[in-house]
Amino acid sequence: MPEPNVQRGETAPARRMTRQKQAIYDNVMNRCDHPTAQEIHHDLSPLGIGLATVYRNLTLLAQDGSITTVEHEGELRYDCNNEAHGHATCTACGRLWDIPLPAPYDAIEASGLVDVEQVELTLRGVCTSCA
Ligand SMILES: [Zn+2]
Ligand SMILES: [Zn+2]
Repeated sequence: MPEPNVQRGETAPARRMTRQKQAIYDNVMNRCDHPTAQEIHHDLSPLGIGLATVYRNLTLLAQDGSITTVEHEGELRYDCNNEAHGHATCTACGRLWDIPLPAPYDAIEASGLVDVEQVELTLRGVCTSCA
């Protein structure tokens, strides 16, 4: 019986980046416009990466903390900014961008929570280009 071909390399399986996962990660980190999975898929379709692969790898990247997610208009968006931050969105053009939190993060930590795991703050209005 041949030995089963199990790879026990130096790199833990969870840390291993496949070429597709790397491309998906790079796309989120380089565009920083809070894309949906469909928008990332559209960008990467020349590379032949399918929508199911995009979804699967985005979930993995979000689980291991490489990227974060933000829900916007009922859709899950992917965020390159891993620091605690707020968002502002334009109700006319739908653009979503990062804003600093109005209070220092230290003050939020004094909220009575042992640990702040997630901050959700979205300001809605009309942006300067649409006004
Ligand atoms: Zn606008
Ligand atoms: Zn953001």
